[in-house]
Amino acid sequence: MLGEAEPAAAGLGYKEAATAVDKAKFPKYADGQLCSNCQLYVAKGPNNGTCAIFPGKLVAGPGWCNAWVKKA
Ligand code: SF4
Repeated sequence: MLGEAEPAAAGLGYKEAATAVDKAKFPKYADGQLCSNCQLYVAKGPNNGTCAIFPGKLVAGPGWCNAWVKKA
């Protein structure tokens, strides 16, 4: 799993729980945005999936980062 403290993750404000996002630092975040409804997310399990931004890692379905894009 991707760790929140890893530099690439921290730089994009990644949190395993979207509700924990620092909204002051990442004002783009809006309630309801989740990795699991992001265009870059490909589900691999009930609560995790891959993300093109973080190759080789799994991100949390209920997570979020500043590169979130609404799933088409
Ligand atoms: S780009 Fe999307 S799927 Fe990847 S970590 Fe950010 S919000 Fe989650």
